[in-house]
Amino acid sequence: MTMTTMIAPVENASVQEIERKFQKAREAFEMWRVYPLAERIRRIQLFWKELFRRKEELIQILHKETGKPMAEIQTMEIVGSQLILKYFLRNASRILRDQPAVAPWLFFNKKAYVRYIPRGVIGIITPWNFPFIIPLGDSLPALIAGNAVILKPSEWTAQTALFVERVFTSSGLFPEGLFQVLSGDGRVGEQVVEKSDMIVFTGSTQSGKKVAVKAAEQLKPFVLELGGKHPMIVLNDAPLRRTVQAAVWGGLANCGQLCVGVERIFVEKEIAQPFVEMIRKEMKLLRQNLSGEETDLGRFIFPGQMEVVQKHLEDAREKGAEVTGGEVVDEQNFLMKPAVVFPAKPEMLVMQEETFGPVLPIMAVSSAEEALYLSNSNPLGLAASIWTRDRSYAERLAYNLEAGLISINDLLSHYVICSLPFGGFKQSGFSRRHGEEGLRQFCQTQSVLIHDWPAQAGEIWWFPYQKWKTRLVSFLNRLS
Ligand code: NDP
Repeated sequence: MTMTTMIAPVENASVQEIERKFQKAREAFEMWRVYPLAERIRRIQLFWKELFRRKEELIQILHKETGKPMAEIQTMEIVGSQLILKYFLRNASRILRDQPAVAPWLFFNKKAYVRYIPRGVIGIITPWNFPFIIPLGDSLPALIAGNAVILKPSEWTAQTALFVERVFTSSGLFPEGLFQVLSGDGRVGEQVVEKSDMIVFTGSTQSGKKVAVKAAEQLKPFVLELGGKHPMIVLNDAPLRRTVQAAVWGGLANCGQLCVGVERIFVEKEIAQPFVEMIRKEMKLLRQNLSGEETDLGRFIFPGQMEVVQKHLEDAREKGAEVTGGEVVDEQNFLMKPAVVFPAKPEMLVMQEETFGPVLPIMAVSSAEEALYLSNSNPLGLAASIWTRDRSYAERLAYNLEAGLISINDLLSHYVICSLPFGGFKQSGFSRRHGEEGLRQFCQTQSVLIHDWPAQAGEIWWFPYQKWKTRLVSFLNRLS
């Protein structure tokens, strides 16, 4: 395989194109929303089959666009997406069917239920680190729920999304314009926020705040899936071999460009030195090249990211840490050696801001409580993990960890276990994707109340008010 990089942003969609695509999406929505749910599910399944038939083309585009190792494309992007889709295909009819509601006894002669009505055009805005699984993982449930989708992928990784759009459109299974891609940068993203009926935004906390303000001005629902600063808490009795392997994979997979990736390690001081040595040894075994095959580490996807990471490493050096690795191997192709920062200190950028690169900052702590305090001192709260053989202690400790995604002796898998709601505490996000709530949020909840009998008589709590009627209502209520 050739060493190819395709690092150029796409051009912005014009105002006319944006208008036209939203108009089409609205028309498609009106057609799609009346399809029975079972039929929507069937068609999505057929589309997936077609996409899968063209898997090799998809993999090539993904590799060109991101430089990820093939193993990561296969397991994280492809298998991960399959797991998400399977969950929604298998559970959508249960989750979205009308739910009977139990009415109080006073209303014994009525029927009540809840139903889920699609919202309209869902605007999905996604980052560059996972150009397939994130856009697909949000678009497919939105479509199953009966909506149309306008997807605005990162300007740096739009080719994958455009390929999916082509397969979707040419499948002939859907009303024209049901799923469309709008290419461009944040300015196009702003238009998508402006024109959609609901926004699902995945990206940095900084951009997420802007999206929230804009959506709030129009009182439209939004989901924010933002940055993370995963603290890995390693206690003295941790299963060391597994913990070391997990730290290296959890911090360096996808070249460290993972919202749930390990960004800080707090290790109890008694085992800190051997732990760091084992990490350094493990990292030396990693292979790195751009071919995609026989490699463990790829390149930075977004060109500017390497600069951010280098700045964090420089800051750590200046503040007294030893940095092993971190050398730029190939500036043009954005290849950098993975780095260990030890001893890391709370005031370093690598411990405060999202580094989003192949860097493991390690800090020795004197107790689990200190690790907990330091973990929670960051404004981000997406993923966190605890490593110990004492499971019940870890579960108690986790209750006080300010993070939406907790792992004990494990990490990074919540996203593809789709029954688990996925999202963060504090500035890592707002609302959740996946799980039952993740599907239902693509609908408006409609509560329906139907009077059964007697057909002609009014209710005793209606006009005219009379004392005996009021007493009767209270009496009947006490009976229940
Ligand atoms: P950005 O916030 O820069 O961009 C995300 C998307 O939003 C891009 O498509 C971008 O367009 C667009 N955008 C930027 N500004 C606006 C705006 N004002 N209005 C609407 N859209 C806008 O994030 P990155 O692409 O740099 O992605 C990395 C970040 O994503 C990290 O912080 C990472 O943690 C987070 N992330 C979170 C996940 C989660 O599930 N919580 C999962 C994956 C990543 P463009 O880039 O084309 O200019």
